[in-house]
Amino acid sequence: MVPGPFDLSHAPPVGVAEAVAPGLRVVTAPNAGPMTFTGTRSYIVGEGEVAVIDPGPHDPRHLGALAAAVAGERVAAVLVTHAHRDHSAGARSFAEAVGAPVLAHGDPVGARSAAMARLAAAGGIGGGEGIDPGFRADRRIGEGEVVAGPGWTLTALATPGHTADHLSFAWAEGSALFSGDHVMGWATTLISPPDGDLGAFRASLVRLQGRREGVFYPGHGAPVGDPQGLIRHVLAHRAAREGEILAALARGPATVAGLVAEIYAAVDPALRGAAGRNVLAHLIDLGERSVAVAMGPPATGAWRLA
Ligand SMILES: [Zn+2]
Ligand SMILES: [Zn+2]
Repeated sequence: MVPGPFDLSHAPPVGVAEAVAPGLRVVTAPNAGPMTFTGTRSYIVGEGEVAVIDPGPHDPRHLGALAAAVAGERVAAVLVTHAHRDHSAGARSFAEAVGAPVLAHGDPVGARSAAMARLAAAGGIGGGEGIDPGFRADRRIGEGEVVAGPGWTLTALATPGHTADHLSFAWAEGSALFSGDHVMGWATTLISPPDGDLGAFRASLVRLQGRREGVFYPGHGAPVGDPQGLIRHVLAHRAAREGEILAALARGPATVAGLVAEIYAAVDPALRGAAGRNVLAHLIDLGERSVAVAMGPPATGAWRLA
C-alpha cells in the first residue's frame, strides 16, 4: 500500500447549501456510508441561472434541500456524471420539479469496451453495484460537449473506468473540474467489472494529468486541492496493487478470494467485497495485457501468470 494523501477529516453540513467557492455551492446528501463516505455531493454552479451536477440519491429530504437551495433561481441544466443511483436516481424527480433537462452520457451498458461486453455476456462476473437501470437522459452528451450559462462554461470530458459512461465536467470560470467518482480525495474509486474497467480508468487518469485545473470537486468528500498529486498517487497505488497481485501469482495460481485474504488481510471486513471487485478488475486487466490467464470462471476460478 502506497501511503496516501487521502483526507478522511471531511465533515460537511448535510441537507443545506454550503458555499464552496465564488459561484459554487454544494448540498451533501444524507447517504453517508462505506462506499459513499460523507454522502453524495450535489453541486450548484452559478447564481441566478445555474447548473446542478449530480442531484444524488432519490431521497425526498435531499431533493427537497437541493430544491430549497435553488429557490427563486432558474436551473438551466441537470448534469449527471454517471448512472450510479447515489448520483443519478434523484435526477428525474429533481429535474421535473425545477423544469430542467437531464444531460448525461446515458448508456453505461452500451459504452462498455468489447472485452467487458464479452465478460458480461459470458455471465458469472457479478458486479452491477449501484447501477441505476432506469436512468434516462433527456439529452445524451459526450466528450467535448459544452453547456454554458452566466458565469459557467462546463465542458464534458469522457473519463470511463469507474463506469463506462462516466463524464467529468471542466468548469472554465472556476478553473476546476467536477470529477465525479473518477478522482476523489478520500479513497481510490471502486472498479467493479464489467462496468468498472481498470485499463480505461488508468487511461482516464493519465488523460487528466494534462489538465491545469487547480481543484477537483469530487462526487464524495472534500475538494481536492492538489489534483495532480492525487492522480500520481492513485496511479502509483494501482501499480503497487498490481505488483502485489503479480507477486502472489508468482507463488502459484490463486483465486480472487485467495488474493483478497492475502493482500487485504488488514482491511475492514465491510470493505472485503469491494476489495474483491478491485482485485478482479486487476486480474481482468492483466488478462487483457496477456500477463495473466483465467484458468476457469474469472470471478471464482483460479488465475495464473501467462
Ligand atoms: Zn459511482
Ligand atoms: Zn458515488
